[in-house]
Amino acid sequence: MTQAMATRPQVSVVIPVFNEEAGLAPLFARLYPALDAIAAKGRSYEIVFVNDGSRDRSAALLREQFQKRPDVTRVILFNGNYGQHMAIMAAFEQCRGDMIVTLDADLQNPPEEIGKLLAKMDEGFDCVGTIRVQRQDSAFRRYASRLMNATRERITRIRMTDQGCMLRAYSRDIVAAINACREVNTFIPALAYTFARNPVEIEVAHEERAAGESKYSLYSLIRLNFDLVTAFSLVPLQAFSFAGILISLLSFVFVVLLAVRRLVVGPEAEGLFTLFGIAFFLIGITLFGIGLLGEYVGRIYQQVRNRPRYLVEAILEKKD
Ligand code: UDP
Ligand code: MG
Repeated sequence: MTQAMATRPQVSVVIPVFNEEAGLAPLFARLYPALDAIAAKGRSYEIVFVNDGSRDRSAALLREQFQKRPDVTRVILFNGNYGQHMAIMAAFEQCRGDMIVTLDADLQNPPEEIGKLLAKMDEGFDCVGTIRVQRQDSAFRRYASRLMNATRERITRIRMTDQGCMLRAYSRDIVAAINACREVNTFIPALAYTFARNPVEIEVAHEERAAGESKYSLYSLIRLNFDLVTAFSLVPLQAFSFAGILISLLSFVFVVLLAVRRLVVGPEAEGLFTLFGIAFFLIGITLFGIGLLGEYVGRIYQQVRNRPRYLVEAILEKKD
């Protein structure tokens, strides 16, 4: 029998791919040797690539790679772009390993570190997170993600030092739990964390993108962070209703004061703009609240629509 893939490999490595044609060759050149070295120590593996509707040659390159290493390679081809986390979801449903490692295709997470994660899993942890040392991202990205981390830690029970690093390992149990979720908008590391019994974090190296550019614009980063907060917590909504209570109490006091003043001092016309100021402030809060409600209603809507979350065009795998 060829190396590994005796129907059930021990390790599944899951990689979402979206317009990465320039980065795939260097990825293959490092990923396969790194995993073959692990396999030489007696751990069989498979790599599950998901082509998330790339518009470049990524799908063709993945096909080629599948033909070169059909023993350990599987490729899921989406018919459109459904996002990084849906791509990982699809791979989770297909993968067969006992330990599942997620990885980005852009080589920002060095594949040579996979062994470290597996060693941690052997120690009995069921969810191995990572912290990037010497993070190679712009200062703005670093500060923004620190701020989001702090907010999330405060309002959810999810504790992740570095939410942005996708190089992570999960046990089969956690992946099974994730597969049972039918969520449309989600953030896999956070979802996994909610199911983890014994999570741990280790430090890994971080490199610059090997080629191509980040697929996340500022807009999609903001969307992603909404997913991170509103998918896991009702605190924003609750905070909003508390603010509502507080403000109505204050305005009640204000109205009483004005009425008393009217009776004691007489009618007033001064301070009109102060009143405008207060009114605009309240309108601002109201609009924010409506937007926030919309975030949750939108999620409910997508969820009850119950459409397929992604469509798989084809799966390339060796029949055994
Ligand atoms: N990705 C994807 N679908 C998307 C966007 C990204 O499958 O719609 C993949 C992308 O190919 C990469 C990973 O998700 O493997 C992370 O994307 P990227 O490196 O652009 O994100 P960043 O590192 O900038 O957060
Ligand atoms: Mg990246």
